[in-house]
Amino acid sequence: MTNETKRNWKPQTALVHSGTLRSGFGETSEAIYMTQGFVYETAEAAEARFKGDEPGFIYSRYANPTVDMFEKRMCELEGAQDARATASGMAAVSAALLCSVKAGDHVVAARALFGSCRWVVETLMPKYGIETTLVDGTDIEAWQNAVRPNTKLFFLESPTNPTLEVIDIAAVAKIANAIGARLVVDNVFATPLQQKPLELGAHVVVYSATKHIDGQGRCLGGVVLSDKQWIDEHLHDYFRHTGPSLSPFNAWTLLKGLETLPLRVRQQTETAGRVAEHLASRPAVVRVIYPGRKDHPQADIIARQMKGGSTLICLDLKDKRAAFDFQNALEIIRISNNLGDSKSLVTHPATTTHKNLTDEARAELGINPGTVRLSIGLEDADDLIEDIDRALGKAA
Ligand SMILES: *Cc1c(COP(=O)(O)O)cnc(C)c1O
Repeated sequence: MTNETKRNWKPQTALVHSGTLRSGFGETSEAIYMTQGFVYETAEAAEARFKGDEPGFIYSRYANPTVDMFEKRMCELEGAQDARATASGMAAVSAALLCSVKAGDHVVAARALFGSCRWVVETLMPKYGIETTLVDGTDIEAWQNAVRPNTKLFFLESPTNPTLEVIDIAAVAKIANAIGARLVVDNVFATPLQQKPLELGAHVVVYSATKHIDGQGRCLGGVVLSDKQWIDEHLHDYFRHTGPSLSPFNAWTLLKGLETLPLRVRQQTETAGRVAEHLASRPAVVRVIYPGRKDHPQADIIARQMKGGSTLICLDLKDKRAAFDFQNALEIIRISNNLGDSKSLVTHPATTTHKNLTDEARAELGINPGTVRLSIGLEDADDLIEDIDRALGKAA
């Protein structure tokens, strides 16, 4: 077996070659090692491998060659020392949050979180005696004020779902560092290409690979990335014994996704920028939030911490009826709660992804009855704009 090693590759090259473990057959594409376990030549070899004296695979719940290639390639992309791939984004988030805290510890999180992430923080963690506080993530003083003597972990996502708020990661990391707490960043909306949380001072980065990394609507996946010490001390045992492992087949699909990730994200972001400009010019559109526009509420932070805009756009129409009529009239853009896909998708957060929140919590997050989230895909921008214009006409 040969191992492709890094030779100061730029990201696009690393995303095609990094981490590749080539078997004796010399296959061009990464092999799918669809196996649960591994055999040992001798009892002594099994003993040595279990003791950690000899490298090698033991069981696919712990590690698998195809999954290993995906983890290595993600490390390269993120600039992280180590990673564990998981069966879904939520497996990554829950592992990253739960592996490093215990009953009596305190966690501070931004209130604008992906629905299931908010459930883990607000409902699951307190059940196990972990104290949690939700703050307005854009208010840096609120993070500082939420700190208690037992605060161990900070958690945020940026840009947020669905209103694309941007949180100053370096400022939150500074508060975490000052008290010896760890900052976990859910970087799904930014993608590994547009924002580098570890460079901004965060300690752990998590992804739902289901989104842009697969990018073609096929399989679920996730990954947790950090320094080797944090993974060894906190995640390693948790991961082995709770079993959120990624299927080798899905790891292979995600490896193929990584090869084209920069091309897709660049194109989708460019198209989203054009669509956002166009939406802002339509009288039926009450509000457009897009991280690439000058009128974004955190435009200054975006200029500092992100390399580009977003593949997502948040817009407000007059009311729920207008939002529903708009969605129903779209022909290319399909109604779905997913994002980051090559197919453009539209979501009405208030009645789907954020329906479990109270009216008050939704209002706090800026989710109105007329709020619509667009995930821009790989279609031609002119076709999308034509689709949107026709649908806006029907919604008016
Ligand atoms: C989708 C998503 C998740 C959860 O990922 P799954 O792969 O669906 O489990 C977590 N965080 C964010 C920001 C997401 O968009």
